[in-house]
Amino acid sequence: MKEGQGRKRKRARHNKPQKPQESLQPKHSIKHKKETHQQKSHAHRSSASSKPPKSSSSNSSSFLDKMRARLAGGHFRMINEKLYTCTGKEALDYFQEDPELFDMYHTGYQEQMSHWPELPVNVIIKWLKDHSSSLIVADFGCGDARLAKNVKNKVFSFDLVSNDPSVIVCDMSNIPLDPSSVDVAVFCLSLMGTNYASYLQEAYRVLKPSGWLLIAEVKSRFDPNNGGADPNKFSKAVCEMGFTSALKDFSNKMFVLLYFKKKEKQSSKGKEIEWPELKPCIYKRR
Ligand code: SAH
Repeated sequence: MKEGQGRKRKRARHNKPQKPQESLQPKHSIKHKKETHQQKSHAHRSSASSKPPKSSSSNSSSFLDKMRARLAGGHFRMINEKLYTCTGKEALDYFQEDPELFDMYHTGYQEQMSHWPELPVNVIIKWLKDHSSSLIVADFGCGDARLAKNVKNKVFSFDLVSNDPSVIVCDMSNIPLDPSSVDVAVFCLSLMGTNYASYLQEAYRVLKPSGWLLIAEVKSRFDPNNGGADPNKFSKAVCEMGFTSALKDFSNKMFVLLYFKKKEKQSSKGKEIEWPELKPCIYKRR
C-alpha cells in the first residue's frame, strides 16, 4: 500500500458522497480479502459484546443490522471495483480462490439494483419476447441468470462463478461455443474487465451473420462530461469489428442501450481498433 492510502481510505468511508478517486485501491490481494472477512467477524463480535449503551434490545439489533449492512456494502464496492480494474482471467482466479466473494458481490449488486426504477435486464427480456423465441442467445456475464429464466429462447448463460448448474462457468473472453452459433449476444452491465474488447471479439466470433449484439451499460460510463467514454467512439470501435449500429438509447436515467447487428460479410481484418477506456462504475454508498 502506498503511503497515506490508509488515511485516505478512512476518509473515503466517512465522506459522502464517495468520489471515484477516494474509493478503494484496485490491487486487493486475496489475502487482504480474507483479512477483511476476519475484520468483519471481529467487528461483528466486538459490537455484540460491547453492547451500545442506553439502548433497548430492538435498538441494539437495528444498530447491529445497520453495521452489518454497512460492512456488506463496503465489501460489495471493493469487489465491484476489483472486477472493473482487472482482466477477466484475473477475475476468474479471484472468485475461484474464494467463491464466497461472488455471493457477497451479488447480494450487494441486488441491493443496488433494488433502487433502480427499471432494470436493464428486463428491457432485454422484453426485447427478446418481442422477437422470435427461436433466436439462440448467449448471455455474457449473466449473474443470477434472470434472462434465461424469463424467456422461452435457448439461452447459454456465462459467468465467473455459479451455484446454478445451468450457468457455464468461464471467463467470457473464451466461451465454449462454436463460431457462428448464436443469434443474440447480450452484455447486460457486464463489460467489466480492462480487456472488455476481447469479450466483444468473442461475441463477434460466436454470432451468426446478421446476429444481434445487445449492450446495456451504466450511463456514467458513457458520459464524456464526467470522465466517461465517448459513446460514439465506442460505437465506432464496435462497428470496425464488423457490426452496424442499430440503436442508441440514452432515455433511461441509469443505463444506456447500444444495439448492433453483425455484418453479413467480415470487414477487412487486421485493422487496429481504438477502444476507448471504460471507467469503473462506482456504486453509491447507501
Ligand atoms: N447480466 C446480469 C448481471 C450483471 S453483474 C444482470 O444484468 O443482472 C455483471 C456480471 O458479469 C457479474 O456476475 C460478473 O461476475 C460477470 N462478469 C464480469 N466479468 C466477467 C468475465 N470476464 N467472464 C464472465 N463473467 C463476468
